[in-house]
Amino acid sequence: MILYSTKNRQLKANLEEAVFRSLPADNGLYMPEHIPTVSEEFLKNIDQLTFNEIAFEVSKSLLNEDIPENDIRMIVERAFDFDAPVVPIEVNIRCLELFHGPSMAFKDFGARFMASLMSYFLGRSQKEIHILVATSGDTGGAVAQGFHNVPGISVTILYPKGKVSDIQEKQLTTLGGNVTALEVEGTFDDCQALVKQAFLDKELTQKYNLASANSINISRLIPQSFYYFRAYAQVKHLGLPVVFSVPSGNFGNLSAGILAHRMGLPVDHFVAVTNRNNVVPKYLENGAYTPSPSVETVSNAMDVGNPSNFVRLTRFFDDEWSQVKNDVSGFWFNDEQTKAAMQDVYERQGYLMCPHTAVAYLGLKEYMNLINKEVLGVFLSTAHYAKFLNVVEDALGTAEVNIPTRLSVLLSKTKESIPMSTRFEDFKNYLLS
Ligand SMILES: *Cc1c(COP(=O)(O)O)cnc(C)c1O
Repeated sequence: MILYSTKNRQLKANLEEAVFRSLPADNGLYMPEHIPTVSEEFLKNIDQLTFNEIAFEVSKSLLNEDIPENDIRMIVERAFDFDAPVVPIEVNIRCLELFHGPSMAFKDFGARFMASLMSYFLGRSQKEIHILVATSGDTGGAVAQGFHNVPGISVTILYPKGKVSDIQEKQLTTLGGNVTALEVEGTFDDCQALVKQAFLDKELTQKYNLASANSINISRLIPQSFYYFRAYAQVKHLGLPVVFSVPSGNFGNLSAGILAHRMGLPVDHFVAVTNRNNVVPKYLENGAYTPSPSVETVSNAMDVGNPSNFVRLTRFFDDEWSQVKNDVSGFWFNDEQTKAAMQDVYERQGYLMCPHTAVAYLGLKEYMNLINKEVLGVFLSTAHYAKFLNVVEDALGTAEVNIPTRLSVLLSKTKESIPMSTRFEDFKNYLLS
């Protein structure tokens, strides 16, 4: 796979370089130069295949120039021991549950595959690498789980003190081993600024092989395409055009859906749904992209004012607004609407959604009501509701919510974190010590 920078088509990298660098030197985003299509045979029989068989076939199409087939199989097997089931909610409405991985959020797909792929490349080169990642909650948990005990890799996670949920904090701070959590006396933006500065610091970059695990890394995008194929496999027999509704923040998830579509997955339409951080729905409305500071909402993993994958998303459409609009509709919803949907679906269907998932549900309903009813709508559930207990209890007006064992055992574990100021010197001294 050859990748080019969205800022300069001549600036190219192979897969291994793109995975370890994350970003091209000119700060663009890596895009595949050529997108292969999957075979008709594969799509015809896809409903007979498991998640890992599908992941293997899709990876093979994308990575066969970089990695031998048997190694691709091993990378996939090592990454995934969880599925992406589609469950019925209402007539012609299904939910794609992406929270069956170790941190119970969809970021597990990206993080696990990235860890497996990096570890494969490292095994060949004997390098040691140090991953730095800033998190507002879900990314850190998925990355910590994904890289825990992976040889040759150590992970430092920076999170804003008091600004992640209890469960999220325990996911970051109780693994130990090669994972260290820094509790930063500041905001997510402060955490991100520290990480960015570390990558620019000569002394640090000379001493360590620093790598980033953020959502723009191509090895996180690729595996997110797998579950769109897996979802299609489960609804194909219904014979209706398929629409995916994607709850979006940095728009990596939606970009991966577009990638799957470009690879030949039959998708009728995508719905891009956000909370009040609505720069992309506004862009879809009038063609103007106007980033703005993020505002806090109950679906906080989507509180993004300048989505990092926006450039990649539009590049799939040759940066043509009219083409984006052909395939993608945008909607956005406020916190009251989100909580009302959580309560409504719970009362009518007995199905409890996290706030991000509720936003996707609302977007799908709006699309089917306003634009096209004759479809099979699949909305993506990006996290288990129990990761956002405060919001769930508020929406339902009760504190009697079931917590899965995988999360409840975390609450009894002891947090281990290192306090950190927002001063770069402190952070740097810590890394050097
Ligand atoms: C990260 C995240 C999102 C947003 O996904 P993007 O790929 O950034 O658009 C939505 N929901 C949850 C629960 C998340 O953790």
